[in-house]
Amino acid sequence: MIRHSATLAVDERIRALKAQGRPVLHLGFGEAGLPVLPEVEQVLAGAAGRNGYGPVAGSPAARSAVAEWFGRRGLPTDPAQVLLAPGSKALLFALVTVLPGDVVLPRPAWVSYAAQAALAGRRVIGVDVPAEAGGVPDPGLLAEELRAARAAGAEPGILILTLPDNPTGTVASADLVAKVCAVAREHGLVVISDEIYRDLADEPVHSPALELPERTVVTGGLSKSVALGGYRIGFARLPDPPLPGLYEGVLGVASEIWSSLPSPMQAVAAYVAGDPPPVREHVAASRRLHRAVATAVHAEFVAAGATCRPPRGAFYLYPDLEHLRDRFATGAELAEHLLEQHGVGVLAGAEFGDDPARLRFRVATSLLYGEDAEQRWTALRSEDP
Ligand code: PLP
Repeated sequence: MIRHSATLAVDERIRALKAQGRPVLHLGFGEAGLPVLPEVEQVLAGAAGRNGYGPVAGSPAARSAVAEWFGRRGLPTDPAQVLLAPGSKALLFALVTVLPGDVVLPRPAWVSYAAQAALAGRRVIGVDVPAEAGGVPDPGLLAEELRAARAAGAEPGILILTLPDNPTGTVASADLVAKVCAVAREHGLVVISDEIYRDLADEPVHSPALELPERTVVTGGLSKSVALGGYRIGFARLPDPPLPGLYEGVLGVASEIWSSLPSPMQAVAAYVAGDPPPVREHVAASRRLHRAVATAVHAEFVAAGATCRPPRGAFYLYPDLEHLRDRFATGAELAEHLLEQHGVGVLAGAEFGDDPARLRFRVATSLLYGEDAEQRWTALRSEDP
């Protein structure tokens, strides 16, 4: 059975607790929690009359804007390579459905990859990755696991990487990405590079698309860096030269399930992906905010005796709370205790296929609590990037 996605399950549980009047600090959900830019609201208001279905792949204006968005990030892109959808999660599912083979997944990994692979009837081949490696496996270990998986009857076909990584909040080095792409090429894998947190990285993100252009699909969107999760704007950049059948296959899934990105959102996507100055400032300010909060919370974890990698990207901390193991048998038990006794919602490492002593904390918005939150956000926005 496919159960409710762990991130959404904790979100809904916390909503229910709040509805009962319980104060809960929600650190379990991957959401920046920042206000919508007034300029974005205006674009949306101006597009409210667009009630016709849009093109399945995305409007020409949105596809061109996203192609240029990738180009400004070092990946020259033709609009014909771009697809938009209601959330990159939908595109990730379409990709796993259409691409052949089983799914090779670094562990820990974002909660939905394994569930989507199961929905698509694929096996998951897990490869353990140390918390500091940015979610990218050691190339030697990857090659070994691929051979072992084949010997056990699996057919590895897809490798999913997350750059920057969720849940660890770290970024893989260019050298590691290059080496892993060499293994992927040797073993005929297609890489899905989930770069949804790219603009929230503290260091350059080296895309696998630079190493393996003919076999890498990059996914991204506006949910995290521009804090527009509820707008559901996701996109994918397909390989160049094209992988035979991939564009048609993803479009086929899209046409049977979501038809198109909602038409008003096509207008928002075209505006935001153009990186106009208000959006650039907003993203730079949110990066500073996440960094300030994550650094402060990281210091608290270390002072409290936890092992925790310093944050390098995205808005997650992933401490190892091994020192509390004598009090809690599993991370899930500790997460439950934090929610019930202290009103703090987090996700246990087990949800990411990992060591249960770890917990993932979303650290993004704590700075925005309290009466002077609005002034602090305004001050951050006016700082130099
Ligand atoms: N990929 C990762 C690693 C995520 O953390 C998320 C959101 O939680 C997504 C993809 C999905 O984002 P969206 O569907 O909002 O584009």
